[in-house]
Amino acid sequence: MAHVIVIGSGFGGSIAAKRFTEAGHTVELLEMGEDWRNQVTPQSADPAFLFRLLRDYPHDYLLTKPKLLVAQGMGLGGGSLVYSAIHLRAPQIAFHGWPAGYDRAHLDPYYARVEQRLGVAPLPGVEEFPRSRAFIDGAAAAGLPRPAPNPLALAGCTACGWCVPLCGFGKKTTMAHTYLADAERTGKLTVRTRRKAAYIGRAGNKYRVACWKTEAVKRDYQRVNDGPLVMVEGDKVVVACGAIESPVLLERSRAADLPEGWEPLRAFPTARLGKGIDGTGDFLQGGFVPRAVDGYKGSVMMMHVDLGEFVLEDVHGIPVGATVMLETRPHGVKKAWGQAYKERFRDYGRHMLGVAIIGRSGPGTANNISVRDKGGIAVTSTAAYTPPPGSLEAARALIKGLGGELADSPWELTKTAFTVHPVGGCAMGDPADADAVVSAGDLAVRENPGLHVIDGSVLPLSALRNPSHTISAVAERAMDVILGVHPRDRWPS
Ligand SMILES: Cc1cc2nc3c(=O)[nH]c(=O)nc-3n(C[C@H](O)[C@H](O)[C@H](O)COP(=O)(O)OP(=O)(O)OC[C@H]3O[C@@H](n4cnc5c(N)ncnc54)[C@H](O)[C@@H]3O)c2cc1C
Repeated sequence: MAHVIVIGSGFGGSIAAKRFTEAGHTVELLEMGEDWRNQVTPQSADPAFLFRLLRDYPHDYLLTKPKLLVAQGMGLGGGSLVYSAIHLRAPQIAFHGWPAGYDRAHLDPYYARVEQRLGVAPLPGVEEFPRSRAFIDGAAAAGLPRPAPNPLALAGCTACGWCVPLCGFGKKTTMAHTYLADAERTGKLTVRTRRKAAYIGRAGNKYRVACWKTEAVKRDYQRVNDGPLVMVEGDKVVVACGAIESPVLLERSRAADLPEGWEPLRAFPTARLGKGIDGTGDFLQGGFVPRAVDGYKGSVMMMHVDLGEFVLEDVHGIPVGATVMLETRPHGVKKAWGQAYKERFRDYGRHMLGVAIIGRSGPGTANNISVRDKGGIAVTSTAAYTPPPGSLEAARALIKGLGGELADSPWELTKTAFTVHPVGGCAMGDPADADAVVSAGDLAVRENPGLHVIDGSVLPLSALRNPSHTISAVAERAMDVILGVHPRDRWPS
């Protein structure tokens, strides 16, 4: 039996931990954030709280022109702590350009497995909420397809509208409460929170991981980049730090000044390491509509309009992260304070309908983001980040269909695009794809058997939908290959 070090506890890391422990292996899980399971979690947009839960890469590390703000979850459970719990399967068209063996039919059993474990289902009575009704009517008026309920990983939702950043009522079936709880029940999981992996090396046929302790850091753990290191050793390592941090960890490992007795990772293809990341086309369009939509009732995003290449989703009128970080404000209000702002906000919760766009960023801008370690993470893109073609027009038509007035988007106000759905950076590929960082079958880093990347960074292209479900299905599939559940030759690698 192997000792496996899993780095990161989001969707990919939690699935790897569960599968390895249930197969009899021991797992040591390193997570740089905190364990929130027994902590009081306020419904608060207080930055001091948010910055303990969200990794954002703000201006001092952000070199993008024009600006692109990337935010991701952090803590035991990773993105599942802060996400909106939406689990949409990717449409077949999303898989064009993926390695052989990846299509909707292949992934369907894995999607189903994840849905079962997380209890994924639409919110009961979803179409009765005023926001859903408005969304349905707006879509009809704009000539768009009828919205369908979002499949959600929520159990016993109180419909308070505050799923993000963390359900204060514990109704989100996070990875900490499901996959990691399963792993813990085996007695073979050791969880080490507030450990940030610094680099990975080898010692004979073992892998070693050096990590920083983040106990002394009050927030923004992702910025820790020096200090005393602790070492752990294992037979296998799973890198599951997400699309921004996984490529950076591999890059840091290549460049690290290794301690005595350590050997470097074997050389692997790096032409695409940290490159080819897409923000999944994330864009937000808000609008004030005459009817009361009571945006704060229901879950944060309940329905979606399926337009093939992208979806539109209704979003709570005050998306917490965007409001706090980008100062989303009503149209015509120049400052984030003052009488005009107060007056406009009086009806904000009642009449603001947010429409989120999710798909693949526009031609020339998709797969255009890159990350590097520069003593802090630097995110760059060489062209403006644009929404999927036709998506802004569709979102605006929906709001106008309700007689609504468009609000300035965060991106118009601050010239800053915003994504919470980055994918890519360690893209997987077929054997013939010499530049792929990992093999499509077992997601092993090329030339480094036993070192795997299992998270959103391996997606070669956006799934055209909120990515967690596809990341999870890909992780389950890879674990089947790694554990030999299916003969390898059935799975191109
Ligand atoms: C506000 C918000 C709402 C969202 N809503 C949805 C939604 O409804 N549906 C959906 O599909 N997606 C949603 N997403 C996106 C989703 O959260 C991510 O796509 C998903 O979590 C990515 O999974 P992952 O396994 O790649 O990594 P993550 O879930 O990001 O997990 C990576 C983990 O690794 C840890 N880590 C990183 N670096 C290190 C290191 N060096 N050492 C140790 N630990 C490290 C991080 O702290 C984190 O916990 C949302 C995201 C946000 C921010």
